[in-house]
Amino acid sequence: MSNSLKVPVNRIIPFSSVDGPGNRTAVFLQGCGFDCKYCHNPETRNLCVACGRCVQECPTGALTLVDNKVIFDYNKCCKCDTCIKVCKHGASPRIRWMEPAEVLEEVKSNMPFIRGVTTSGGECTTYPEFLKEFFRLCKDVGLTTLIDSNGSYDFSKDRELLEVTDGVMLDVKAYDLNEHINVTGTDNKMVLQNMEYLASVDKLFEVRTVVVPGLFDYEGTIAEVSNKLSAYKTNIRYKIIAFRPNGVRQEYRNYNSPDRAELDRLAEIAKSKGIKDINII
Ligand code: SF4
Ligand code: SF4
Ligand code: SF4
Repeated sequence: MSNSLKVPVNRIIPFSSVDGPGNRTAVFLQGCGFDCKYCHNPETRNLCVACGRCVQECPTGALTLVDNKVIFDYNKCCKCDTCIKVCKHGASPRIRWMEPAEVLEEVKSNMPFIRGVTTSGGECTTYPEFLKEFFRLCKDVGLTTLIDSNGSYDFSKDRELLEVTDGVMLDVKAYDLNEHINVTGTDNKMVLQNMEYLASVDKLFEVRTVVVPGLFDYEGTIAEVSNKLSAYKTNIRYKIIAFRPNGVRQEYRNYNSPDRAELDRLAEIAKSKGIKDINII
């Protein structure tokens, strides 16, 4: 196995019921090209630049700086999150560089109580070669494979990846290009291209939009996305997610959460456009 397939793993959640159908192990990889204002895990966006700040602040000596790299000792960590709070680089020092087979070994300890794996992030498609090998190994042991993605990766150019992927859960953070740039710092051409491509090859398991009052025209996004998806015969779920401030950076925490009546109204809009499977969370 080549070292090039080693990826930075932020965390592995053994049992998750919110990352796809059934009970699943969720694998979160570090690194993401977007910079969403409402990101709940802003410490997963970037790789550590070894500035050393968290090493000085760690109360238990779980972090050391060796050869310009931060070394993390899991056994000394008291999970106080000080390192996450003091990092100014959107990074975490608590990552493990792991090969696909190593991740699978951890996943296997959750069998037979899981239906499959979901890879998330950060943005897991930052590491397509890892995903291909990891998913192949998962398939060999009978697990289903899902990708949770911000849509920045061109799936149409990677048939090999889609062959071992059962479905993609795609974030459409805003339909309008300028609004998407405002929300994420990046345009959405690839996201919308992926939405239609994945739907056309029956690999789009779910589309998600986070509803953030005052940040963008979420009603317009949900209406446009629903319009597009209703053209496809497959039953694609639309997950409408209420903004919650937990974990969000201080400067973006002041948006209000939408109330249930507003979420129900949005679900009705999606339904009126032809979406049958709508999930509000
Ligand atoms: S995790 Fe952040 S604070 Fe810690 S060394 Fe890396 S860049 Fe610096
Ligand atoms: S969470 Fe971070 S700062 Fe706290 S003990 Fe663990 S490594 Fe150290
Ligand atoms: S795409 Fe996801 S991980 Fe990346 S910044 Fe946005 S919310 Fe955070």
